[in-house]
Amino acid sequence: MSLKPTLAILACLSVAVLSCVKGGSPSTSLVTVKRAQMHMGTLVSITAVGRTEVETNAAIAAGFQEVKRLEQLLSTWIPNSELSRVNTAAGRSAVQVSPETLAVVRKSLEIAEMTEGAFNVAIGPAVDAWNISAEPRLPTTEELAALKPLVDLQYVHTDLWERTIHLEKQGMRIDVGGIGKGYAADQSVVVMKEAGALAGVVALSGDIKTFGLLPDGASFSVGIRHPRKEGAILAEIKLQDEAISTAGDYERFFEKDGVRYHHILDPRTLQPARGCQSVSVIAKEGIWADGLDTGIFVLGPERGMELVEQLEGVEAIIVDDAGRLLLSSGLRDRVVLTSDNLSWEQ
Ligand code: AMP
Ligand code: MG
Repeated sequence: MSLKPTLAILACLSVAVLSCVKGGSPSTSLVTVKRAQMHMGTLVSITAVGRTEVETNAAIAAGFQEVKRLEQLLSTWIPNSELSRVNTAAGRSAVQVSPETLAVVRKSLEIAEMTEGAFNVAIGPAVDAWNISAEPRLPTTEELAALKPLVDLQYVHTDLWERTIHLEKQGMRIDVGGIGKGYAADQSVVVMKEAGALAGVVALSGDIKTFGLLPDGASFSVGIRHPRKEGAILAEIKLQDEAISTAGDYERFFEKDGVRYHHILDPRTLQPARGCQSVSVIAKEGIWADGLDTGIFVLGPERGMELVEQLEGVEAIIVDDAGRLLLSSGLRDRVVLTSDNLSWEQ
């Protein structure tokens, strides 16, 4: 992840899980437990439904453990993580990595192709130049132009058989901040199910994956944050065995001379992407939802929604730069709007 572990801003949760019950249901003997811990620079909240308290707690512990394990592979804040080793070897050699790290980087390249390069996992040098997560600064146009060759995906090489990643140019840096949390949510759910959980939710800030149903038979309800009203929910949606991820220009940003500079960068200009305030993507897998929310944010509302309509099993809720809400065709009967300050574009 590109996030600095100490910089998690709890108030910035893009989405909130609304219907996690507290305790067992009288109609069944199932138990529901919810816990939260800090990992990957953010608040990770896990809810599990299980047959016994012991089994449910074990499933939650396994879920957190999996997130921690993946952080050791993917975090670029951990100097000896696999991705840090790949970045350190840029311009010199290929580095052998685990199947998980390779999978995340290869999926990132796939999403780059689908989004015409809008999603760019080699964005690291530009992320560093803005340094929005730590000490934000405004890089000059010349500085950004000089970084352009380093964010060129044609210089990222993966070898499936050798299980290696090679960054061809010195100074290149992979940053999976736009996709890694969605993947971690997926993998956390896998181990929770193996540990006996019957249903649950894993939420890494705005990257959420749900499985199964609550003990009373209801699906998990998720609230999407209003991009301009602190603490307000824009819309609600029920999810079953689905993931939702939100990318927003309010998550990490600074303002200078009335301009908002945020953390999602357009690879063509290396400037913050304009056109959206927030993009929430719903998909079966968190890795898709997370990769696509960032890519669609950069593509902008029109081209982004066009892409969503072409993809089976993918839906989106976009708030454009004027604050208008756009819903993909498969969501019109599923979303409950909770804010009257937004117009709804059909
Ligand atoms: P998300 O909140 O999922 O949109 O992820 C945002 C994070 O993705 C940023 O903090 C960067 O680490 C990274 N990022 C920024 N711009 C891009 C981009 N165009 N493509 C891929 N990752 C990006
Ligand atoms: Mg993302």
